[in-house]
Amino acid sequence: MNELLEVRNVRRSFPRSGGEELLVLEDVNLSLKEGEIVGLLGRSGSGKSTLLRLIAGLASPQGGSLTYMGAPINGPAQGVAMVFQGFALFPWMTVLQNVELGLEALGLPESEIRRRALAAIDLIGLDGYESAYPRELSGGMRQRVGFARAIVVHPNILLMDEPFSALDVLTAENLRTDLIELWGKKQLPTKGIILVTHNIEEAVLMCDRVLLFSASPAKVSSEVRIDLPQPRERTSPAFEDYVDRIYVEMTARRVERMRQQQQGTSFLDMPLTHVSPNQISGLVEALAAAPYDGKADLPDIAYEQELEVDELFPVAEAMQLLRLADVEGGDIKLTHMGKRFADGELNERKEIFSRALQNHVPLAGHIRKVLDERASHSAPYRRFLDELEDHMAEDAAEETLKTVVSWARFSELFSYDDDAELFSLENPT
Ligand code: ADP
Ligand code: MG
Repeated sequence: MNELLEVRNVRRSFPRSGGEELLVLEDVNLSLKEGEIVGLLGRSGSGKSTLLRLIAGLASPQGGSLTYMGAPINGPAQGVAMVFQGFALFPWMTVLQNVELGLEALGLPESEIRRRALAAIDLIGLDGYESAYPRELSGGMRQRVGFARAIVVHPNILLMDEPFSALDVLTAENLRTDLIELWGKKQLPTKGIILVTHNIEEAVLMCDRVLLFSASPAKVSSEVRIDLPQPRERTSPAFEDYVDRIYVEMTARRVERMRQQQQGTSFLDMPLTHVSPNQISGLVEALAAAPYDGKADLPDIAYEQELEVDELFPVAEAMQLLRLADVEGGDIKLTHMGKRFADGELNERKEIFSRALQNHVPLAGHIRKVLDERASHSAPYRRFLDELEDHMAEDAAEETLKTVVSWARFSELFSYDDDAELFSLENPT
């Protein structure tokens, strides 16, 4: 098989306020061969879009190398096209004009541009919509225009950045099915596809190989080859086995990292993903109830609760962090405290939550201690934000603090005044 793309030991960081660097990609390796669909699976913020931008030549790495069909990537390459999550169409242009735009840079004769644009429109199921404007189209049709504009150039590599995630479930599935069918019949004018996604099932449905991304900094932590013929059946046991296996790999790694951070040198290095007490209560309740009775397979309960990985993992992690549940392999199991929480009235829940916060979320304990010690029993938001920002990216620091605020409010460990941007103790002892 011919090698389309080779990414070797790529490194990319971004400058952060305060002169530090945020290392987003470290030592990333991947290859794409002719005839392959390769998936990049990882949670949001793990650097997937950054990697696609490097491959598209829209940004350059600080280390390592990217090779496209044998030559180093240096600036935007002809033959690499991208489909984005947002539709990125020009509202004042018709479907046909939007698609033809993809061809302008190639310097083709006008008749050839028209012929290829119409062929792409036809292929992707937009026949009859040539003169429509984007605002007249549904989300699914708009994304089809996005696809048509990408494939009209007959790219050697088609990069897709979460192309289905802005669509509703049915529309997304239709579009996936159509693409797989076209790909299977070799009707898509492209040689290889890289699909970025945070949806495990989507990756198993569409890809020949799936690379799992770990976060901060992102590395390709493992590769899973999906040995199933197309079209794939979501409900087949073999399909579910792949989904389970990837779930297990992704959770095991994340929970391990979190345990290390929890025992680590400083809580200031422990970013939290925002999860509301409501979401935590919801999952605790679902787990406690039949048919789970305290223990569930993560993919099962995700499916049952209509949650995607990106939504389920942070909730499961928060429960692990607060010691309301144990995440082990692909399972989640309520702890003794978790069961008591599930059975408790609101006041008991608040108490359990408050104790969990003080004992297991060092940042919450730290804020509480500062408030206890101060004569005013108050402290500005900025004080803690600055402290966190010395150890993590600005947006991570804000999200971490926001999370602790919402947990502390629920448990009444301390309160927070949004307008004054001030933490305080409601009932100082
Ligand atoms: P993903 O696509 O996996 O959600 P991204 O590649 O978009 O992740 O972003 C990874 C990290 O890099 C994020 O923390 C993001 O804030 C940061 N980042 C991405 N692009 C830039 C940039 N141009 N400048 C600074 N930080 C960036
Ligand atoms: Mg992204």
